[in-house]
Amino acid sequence: MTETPTTAPVSATMLTTVDAVSGEPVGSWPIDDAAAVATAVERARSAGLLWRELGFTERKRALRRWAAQIINNVDEFCALISTENGKPADDAYLEVVTAVEHLNWAAENAQKVLKPKTVWPGLMMANVEAVIEQRPHGVVGVIGPWNYPVYTPNGSIAYALAAGNTVVFKPSELTTGIGHWFVDAFAKANPALPLGILSVVTGPGETGRALVESGVDMIAFTGSTATGKRIMAAAAQRLTPVVLECGGKDAAIVAEDADLAAAADAIVWSAMANSGQTCVGTERCYVVDSVLDDFLAEVTARVRELTPGRSYGPMTLPSQIDVVAEHVDDALAQGATAVFGGADSIRAPFVSPIVLLDVPEDSTAVREETFGPTLTVRGVRDVEEAIRLSNASRYGLASSVFSRKRGMEIARALRAGATSVNSPASYAAIPALPFGGVGESGVGRIHGAAGLLGFTRPHSIARQRFAIPGMALQSFARTQSTMSMVRKITARRFGRAK
Ligand code: NAD
Repeated sequence: MTETPTTAPVSATMLTTVDAVSGEPVGSWPIDDAAAVATAVERARSAGLLWRELGFTERKRALRRWAAQIINNVDEFCALISTENGKPADDAYLEVVTAVEHLNWAAENAQKVLKPKTVWPGLMMANVEAVIEQRPHGVVGVIGPWNYPVYTPNGSIAYALAAGNTVVFKPSELTTGIGHWFVDAFAKANPALPLGILSVVTGPGETGRALVESGVDMIAFTGSTATGKRIMAAAAQRLTPVVLECGGKDAAIVAEDADLAAAADAIVWSAMANSGQTCVGTERCYVVDSVLDDFLAEVTARVRELTPGRSYGPMTLPSQIDVVAEHVDDALAQGATAVFGGADSIRAPFVSPIVLLDVPEDSTAVREETFGPTLTVRGVRDVEEAIRLSNASRYGLASSVFSRKRGMEIARALRAGATSVNSPASYAAIPALPFGGVGESGVGRIHGAAGLLGFTRPHSIARQRFAIPGMALQSFARTQSTMSMVRKITARRFGRAK
């Protein structure tokens, strides 16, 4: 996917978001230029002193108050999500609830994961106490997408805050109102805390670029692979650490022993929900030949029941409709069969489900992120061929496997950051599981203990508890007799392989 072309009428100074269906304006905010971004980062840096001093328990209380503020006003929030992003209110609700699960987990587990740890110093340093203390990076710049405008940035924001960082958040230009609501809820829940603990900056990609270049101590980005590469290159100028959650081309494997009805249910939901605008949505499906016809019948029966505008919303990013059309046209031109829908399923701003069979593996519909309610299906000789084709992608975000007996075995063979077995995307709703991709799907992890650790840096402290007379190795006073003793002990310990 290319850089987000905004649909909102962006003037030089104001950003206006629009209703994803009607195109009517929703809200307007001044665009933050580099100077405004620098001010926000400075305020976040000052607020960080107090936020860190609060410690784990008080930070947990502040985050729990934020969660309560969100849940107690969830209908208002969901209405705004539905308007700006376009997804049905129930989908918005599930997105918010899942985000709050993560928020709660990060708040509850930060101390356990990040508390100082004393480690064995080794024989040579037995007189030294060795401690690892996890320090927050400082100010984390979080840059978010529009497709899951709460869940995805929250996977960085909640974990970064729980770890003691302060956050400057740049929401997508398409879902800026949602970003403001989310951040305002923190301030409303915590009126006694300084505003800079969590703040928002507004604008298109240029504002995000200013945030990356502002001197923040870490960047947490969720969005397309193309933008992720730009951000990594810009962050390299200062060696600013990054976590990048980028695009995918997720595959599902249906083995001969799969429950076909359950597999079809999960795969159709994964491919079509949110109009297919899901980073971990299934886009490719490999089905063992012996069950292909039955599987296709199950899929067709389900997609026939879907109504765009009710089952899922419009395409949020209008230019993405062209990408979907290009991929479908390319697949059909190369000999694919449209099992359900086709080029005429595309009626902006909605796209009806499209299921394509036998799409050549080198076509864009199989290789590139389509990000629409489409699914390619290919029959394969066996599970081994399905694994090989699933892994033949520059992306490696997530994957799913449907098999009664071989689920775990197949999952382990897949090159991906996450795999669900006999369910769609269940890993995403389990806060303890790390989330992130391999290859061009991203760098680093959010969520879980790995996510908390990623928003900190280890500070190793070695404190000499007592001196051992004559044993000072890191000293010019070192003696030859000490050295010969060290040589003897070393030879005894490591000189013979056991
Ligand atoms: P995008 O890359 O176009 O934009 C994402 C964000 O980056 C926006 O806020 C945008 O303003 C900002 N941005 C653009 N150019 C920038 C620059 N040069 N410097 C800094 N910031 C910049 O992505 P999108 O269209 O908003 O989101 C859809 C993409 O996100 C899809 O590829 C999807 O797969 C991916 N995504 C990934 C995950 C994940 O967890 N891996 C989750 C959701 C979405």
